[in-house]
Amino acid sequence: MAIAGSCLCGGVRFEIERAIGPFELCHCNRCRKSSGSAFVAGVGVRVDEYRLLTGRELIASYDAPILERPPAYRVFFCTRCGSMVPEPEPSGEWFEIPAGLLEGDPSVRPDKHIFAELEPAWLEIAARLPRLTKAELIELRLGRRPAPEPPEAWRVAPVLVVRDVGQSIAYYRDTLGFDVIGTFGEPPEVAFVGRAGIQLMLQDAEGKPTPGSNRGYKSVAWDAHVWVEDVESLHADFVARGATIVKPPTATFYGAREIEVADPDGHVLCFGQQMQNS
Ligand SMILES: [Zn+2]
Ligand SMILES: [Zn+2]
Repeated sequence: MAIAGSCLCGGVRFEIERAIGPFELCHCNRCRKSSGSAFVAGVGVRVDEYRLLTGRELIASYDAPILERPPAYRVFFCTRCGSMVPEPEPSGEWFEIPAGLLEGDPSVRPDKHIFAELEPAWLEIAARLPRLTKAELIELRLGRRPAPEPPEAWRVAPVLVVRDVGQSIAYYRDTLGFDVIGTFGEPPEVAFVGRAGIQLMLQDAEGKPTPGSNRGYKSVAWDAHVWVEDVESLHADFVARGATIVKPPTATFYGAREIEVADPDGHVLCFGQQMQNS
């Protein structure tokens, strides 16, 4: 389905079949000036998948003085509302359009900051995207440099030793709403289960006694703690699925709201929500 886009006044309307990327956040001085913001978010679109629907007569362009060599930095804008708009008659195979004009989700996501050395001091870039200076961008564009890898992201999976991995998989999947990310062995000896970005690893005790729950050592100990955004609805979900609730939603002296659930081996998982006004 096509994704619609328009300027602020709605005079210029266009649609694209899809966005293909790259999706760059450009901090160059000219993008900063023309947008009045920290960067221009430009997303790559195939020329034959772009259609200008209305407002051709409203579109004007401005060529900034050439700083180094042609072509000039050119910006297209709506003469009625001033919004930056896509080039009305683009050439070549693909071109970049201002992503902020799109009404729908282009599905692709920003893949890099460019001209990162020019980012304004007041902007704190929190996103974990590669940050290329102009020199690095030129190297990338000329193919002399491999595409930047996103910074490495580590993930931890607490390991729970269980009597029967198959049974535990079923419980985590059907009762706690986890996805089975992968298993090893047939029948499974090891499984990764995950929900909302966290993972647990279940390992089979292979007939040996399991180490048991940390609760066996201390009456308040957990085997895993997970921060969540909405502990009440998670609790309702667990109750509806028939999970073993050890502790219903409870406010703590340290400003959290927590529930505890147990798995078939008695491991106690705490799901905690940090409350705002604490
Ligand atoms: Zn307009
Ligand atoms: Zn720029």
